[in-house]
Amino acid sequence: MLILGGTVVDAAGARRADLRVGGDGRIAEVYEAGPSEPAAGGGGGETAGDGPSFGRPRPGEAVYDATGKLVVPGGVDAHTHLEMPVGAIRVSDDFFTGTRAAALGGTTTVVDYVPVRRGEDPLEAASAWKAVAAKAAVDWGLHLTFPEAVEERTVETAVSAGITSFKLYLAYPDRLQIDDAAVLRLMRYARRHGALVNLHCENGGGIAELQREALSEGRTGVAAHAATRPAVLEAEAVTRAAALAEVADAPIFVVHLSSADALVAALAARSRGADLHAETCPQYLYLESSRVEGRDGMDFVCSPPLRGPRDREALWEGLAAGEISTVGTDHCPFWRADRRAGTRRREEGAADFTEVPGGLPGVETRMALVHEGVALGRLSLEDWVRTCAEMPARIFGLFPRKGSLMVGSDADLVIWDRARRQSLSASKLHMATDHSPYEEVTVTGWPELVLSRGRVVVEDGEFLGEPGWGEYLARAPYGR
Ligand SMILES: [Zn+2]
Repeated sequence: MLILGGTVVDAAGARRADLRVGGDGRIAEVYEAGPSEPAAGGGGGETAGDGPSFGRPRPGEAVYDATGKLVVPGGVDAHTHLEMPVGAIRVSDDFFTGTRAAALGGTTTVVDYVPVRRGEDPLEAASAWKAVAAKAAVDWGLHLTFPEAVEERTVETAVSAGITSFKLYLAYPDRLQIDDAAVLRLMRYARRHGALVNLHCENGGGIAELQREALSEGRTGVAAHAATRPAVLEAEAVTRAAALAEVADAPIFVVHLSSADALVAALAARSRGADLHAETCPQYLYLESSRVEGRDGMDFVCSPPLRGPRDREALWEGLAAGEISTVGTDHCPFWRADRRAGTRRREEGAADFTEVPGGLPGVETRMALVHEGVALGRLSLEDWVRTCAEMPARIFGLFPRKGSLMVGSDADLVIWDRARRQSLSASKLHMATDHSPYEEVTVTGWPELVLSRGRVVVEDGEFLGEPGWGEYLARAPYGR
């Protein structure tokens, strides 16, 4: 396929360029306009002959006119929880519906967290999860979760199988949290074997005590969910994780950073020389903490909780400044009935806020919501592509195969129409859920065409892919 007339935006910047997608599903040629050509926006007026050109299409080659559109690498969402069991219920998107929705929103790679229970062999859990993920419609990789200490050879084996990052929780003492000694030991293993430690940074002990207090005082509603997870306990955990990483000389990745306080902590660690990357999520850029107090407050429960305006301001600024490296989704949707029944699936409804499953849908809306930041004057187009595609690919060992439009990269690309309007109401989206955190929002900017390894998987809002098209991505060790 030849893609002509578009404005390519990737790690190399925004410029007029034509692309040829090879029969092997990779970018075969890139023909850039000369320096005198307009860099962006006004490419519509060029006529054949004075713009970039490959000459005639080859026999059988399709031509796509991307005049006036952006051509960007497919999005890389390095934080999903597809199909994950949560107590007696399960995340509502499976690997097919979740990755179909991802593709429809312009994301062509996901990296999903393998759920691991205490007492379970993480490597066996990863093998089982590969079978679950095999129905994915776009390419996928895996992170492991270590809810307890593991042997060094577990880390070594995981890395050699392309699972080069693992998640440690500093919260959820009853099922996921591990202590500082185990964190430090795992950081040393990660350092030796080229793995990246991802951390959920909230102080689990402090939160558990605040929850006990709230429940004993009869504060059982979801408003207490946010009140028992204050930003200072997030910031503390970032500082502690970074201190342990400094001792271990290990790189770390802070998932779903949500607050100004936590960002300050992350920046302080970086100024000491820590190799620390942070991710935020669209919900922390857009949604106000008071949403949990509304009629459908349960639908806004996530951890860390939604924060306030000062936090959102800091996160946008941090993204633009490169202090926050990536935007992931923490995609973790539920049906409304399951939210209300709670993780113990009670017919009378969840007993209190601790039983309400936490997590929001997001895999389909991430690219558009961060792109909206460009219209809001928060980010540049390059920032958008960097935080949503390039940096997640780089950090998680997928670059330049993903997150790039260089010759040789996978032809995972999106023709993005900056004028296309799209409602973010659940009824207009494709994630397996019956509510949307952005029910009243309409964005301007949405995919027109999406390619996965050269195959058209979305055209004009219609999904043209299939279950199982997605391939497992063995990821490279961190920084290698
Ligand atoms: Zn998560």
